[in-house]
Amino acid sequence: MATVGDVTIQEDHWIGGARVSSPATFDDVSPIDGQVIARVARGGAKEAEEAVRAATKAFPAWARTSREERARLLHAIADGVEKRLDQLAIVETTDNGALLRSHLRGVMPRVAHNFRFFADWLLGLGHDDFETRGHRNHVSWDPAGVCALITPWNAPLMLATWKIAPALAAGDTVVLKPAEWSPLTSSLLAEITVEAGLPDGVFNVVQGYGEEVGAPLVAHPDVRRISFTGSVPTARHIARAAAANLTPLSLELGGKSPLIVFADADLDLAVNLAVEQYDNAGQVCLAGTRLLVEESVAAEFTERFVAKASALRQGDPRDLATDIGPNIHREHFERIDGFVQRALAAGGTPVIGGGPNTDLGGLYYRPTLFTGVAPDSEIVNEEVFGPVLTLQTFRTEDEAVEMANSTKFGLAATLATGSRERADRVTERLVAGTVWVNCFFVRDLQAPFGGARQSGVGREGGDWSFDFYCDVKNTVTAPGGWNG
Ligand code: NAD
Repeated sequence: MATVGDVTIQEDHWIGGARVSSPATFDDVSPIDGQVIARVARGGAKEAEEAVRAATKAFPAWARTSREERARLLHAIADGVEKRLDQLAIVETTDNGALLRSHLRGVMPRVAHNFRFFADWLLGLGHDDFETRGHRNHVSWDPAGVCALITPWNAPLMLATWKIAPALAAGDTVVLKPAEWSPLTSSLLAEITVEAGLPDGVFNVVQGYGEEVGAPLVAHPDVRRISFTGSVPTARHIARAAAANLTPLSLELGGKSPLIVFADADLDLAVNLAVEQYDNAGQVCLAGTRLLVEESVAAEFTERFVAKASALRQGDPRDLATDIGPNIHREHFERIDGFVQRALAAGGTPVIGGGPNTDLGGLYYRPTLFTGVAPDSEIVNEEVFGPVLTLQTFRTEDEAVEMANSTKFGLAATLATGSRERADRVTERLVAGTVWVNCFFVRDLQAPFGGARQSGVGREGGDWSFDFYCDVKNTVTAPGGWNG
């Protein structure tokens, strides 16, 4: 058992309604101070097999449970999340270094909302019957079976529950494999599901490294859906595994999203939007890391950006006054620094930042903005997943669109403009799953969410989630043929 503050966390897997250990463990290290906070059970093929078996066994009864009962249980899980909100927030912050302030005010309430939203959506899920030459068509959403859910470390519980909630609502059973750098809140969630009364085996958690326990899980022939959020290279492994069984899969991947600032924009708003891209120390898939600024306002924009970004407070994420915490792990920190060093070597100019925060030591990286970057350079085209932005300028709307669409990704795009007509024109031409106009990060669960190009396959949210997690069936009934 591990303890974070006064919270006790089980380090074993959660399979079939019981804690299950493994012969080996791995160290879970806090990015705040490098302390080992847990020694977590390190699963492999055996644990993946056990979890899929438990989920398979639990499936028929769960699939037959009424929609109302499933919705009631999901609301009970949401109640449990709200009751333990402070605990979840401090454990997540200690585990992945994201701001306690954000966890308390935004993220954990949103975790509860994920369950409430999909519970309520389930009750409204449906389609009016329709006729074909006198025959009645009836569409139903049948539970599909066992879902393997593989999630990343940057917003662990939030991203996992985007998947868990609709899968459970759909009548599926779940095996969750949380990221090895931040597994602890998934273990707490398992306890919350027990307290809510979820039957054994409906929700399972296996922990460990991706190649060791994630790979056998996604390759399992009894898994009916794979939903993955993470990086493009891992997605390729998972897609290959899914191909063998033709398991339907949903992929939410990385990005290199543009934030386009036109000269007609409210410049204060544009600067605020740009500085917001340092949120979570830059470890946000949706981050608009490429600032594309109209040349005529670029100097003014840069000056105001530097003033605002320099005022950000970097430090311990448990301090509610902190704006930027540490990055997740030494290995990731070195990766970020590698990108920065290569950008410097390629002639990039850091207007701010450009290296680790040596005052703080540890895994704190200075918020960085590069100018003087070539369009085909690595720093402009590859996802850094750290507090590193680039600034490029454009002269015309066409040029802005061309630059915005120039990477292999297509997750999101943000526009700052004072012209409604321009916003409409540009939005129509952008390759992105989400476009924000004069705003950022507003996300309604009934909206489709996902990426174009290498940013993903499929969409999550509202009906899109149920379409994925269910076997959608159409029943066509002839008008006659009945006895009596
Ligand atoms: P990652 O791909 O390294 O790991 C994600 C998960 O996959 C982890 O749980 C890992 O253990 C598991 N995994 C690794 N190899 C596996 C394998 N062979 N088989 C099965 N599972 C395996 O990603 P990460 O570093 O944890 O997360 C960062 C990435 O996630 C970034 O690219 C980011 O943009 C992306 N992301 C996307 C979204 C989105 O919604 N589009 C949201 C958050 C993060």
